[in-house]
Amino acid sequence: MSAPLSYFITTLGCVKNQADSRQMALSLQKRGLVLAADATTADVHVINSCAFIESARRETIAAILEAYDARQQTDQKLVVAGCFSQRYANEIKTELPEVDLAFGTGQYAAAGSLIVDRFEWQERLQEQEAGQRPALQSSPGSDLARLTRAGVSSRQSSSALETVWAPIKISDGCNRGCSFCAIPAMRGPFQSLAVDAILDEARLLIAQGVREICLVSQDTNHFGGQTEALVDLICRLDEIPGLEWQRLLYMYPDPLSLAVYRQLAPLKLRSFVPYLESPVQHVAPRVLRAMKRYGSMEFFTDFFGEIRSLYDQLEIRTALLCGFPTEGPAEVDAALQFIETVRPEKLALFSYSAEEGTAAWGLADPVPADEKACRVNLLRAAHLQVLQELHLQRLGRRYNCMIDKIDSDSTLTARRPQDAPDIDEQVFVELDPAARRHHWQPGQIVPLEINGFFEYDMSGRLVLESK
Ligand code: SF4
Repeated sequence: MSAPLSYFITTLGCVKNQADSRQMALSLQKRGLVLAADATTADVHVINSCAFIESARRETIAAILEAYDARQQTDQKLVVAGCFSQRYANEIKTELPEVDLAFGTGQYAAAGSLIVDRFEWQERLQEQEAGQRPALQSSPGSDLARLTRAGVSSRQSSSALETVWAPIKISDGCNRGCSFCAIPAMRGPFQSLAVDAILDEARLLIAQGVREICLVSQDTNHFGGQTEALVDLICRLDEIPGLEWQRLLYMYPDPLSLAVYRQLAPLKLRSFVPYLESPVQHVAPRVLRAMKRYGSMEFFTDFFGEIRSLYDQLEIRTALLCGFPTEGPAEVDAALQFIETVRPEKLALFSYSAEEGTAAWGLADPVPADEKACRVNLLRAAHLQVLQELHLQRLGRRYNCMIDKIDSDSTLTARRPQDAPDIDEQVFVELDPAARRHHWQPGQIVPLEINGFFEYDMSGRLVLESK
């Protein structure tokens, strides 16, 4: 009897892709495929792609060619799913013969059938099913659930990611129409996912050891068409036993996000962390107009200021896009002033890359690449100054942190509630002899006192109750 048909998923791009890869893993398992030990030995290798900007496209193409060269079985099937396939379906056919099958962003849940039908694996799977495996049941403790969670690997993810936190997608697509953004062309118009499906997925993940859920989408505050729907979802998630933390990502900086945070504050939900991720992209009126984005320096200052006042020790992650057409020295100064006034704890900085098919494509790309890089470095230096001052204020403070991973018997890595997985600061802890006698678990909440910092990350010590 030949080995069961196996798959492996490599996930590129944003955290939302991890949620989509998990859906594809579930779909493949339901057809009887099992997780391969690694990408090179799988019968089918699926690359969940990204095509957001030029550098992401290059990474996807490199991953495809690398996967093709690295495969140990020459009859391995290579599949490309997601944004790159959605945007370049024809080009893949003509320019990437290495790819055996490509499907877009709306077909993750159908991955199993698309792949089995394309490669005519029905008979082989029936034999496999008859000869080898009991029927698969989708109950939390089942193999399926364990395999589901372990079905994907991501280039940038560490092993710990697969144990303590998981992204759950609550909607797909976007209707905002920011002039620089190609995502709506790849993900389509906004649509919320079903509340029951989201809650089921959360229960499944929590039963498997996840202790933190990040709610992700392109446009999170539009979930359910009204703010009450998102607030209600967060309240229902808060009731699930075993969930320690829940976090909102991709909250567009507008009155809708403000309304959500205003409605949640008095509820003082046990699991809702004091964290706001809200990318402004820019603050100068001329640039915001050209980006077709909402907001102003005044609105952002009030927006972040009010949300900070509603939650104890809330921290902010935002993003600035540098070098957009219409950005001149005055606009860069406005961005600097924003950093010094609003003092976001976390700041993502990007260089504008003109995207064909977007409204901004017509504006050309007048800012030279090296000038964009200078502006990014200027803003980064300003933010590092702010972060240095914030780090000094954090010294000696205590936080109930989540253990992400146990590195060895004397060190562990953790995060404060104010730090999102994979993108924000971590706290490194050296365990003293007394602490080493304890059996620590990823996902456990432990009291840490910050006693040092690096450029971004921090160090801390466990605050153990003296017997
Ligand atoms: S909000 Fe703007 S930047 Fe974000 S996905 Fe939608 S169009 Fe793109």
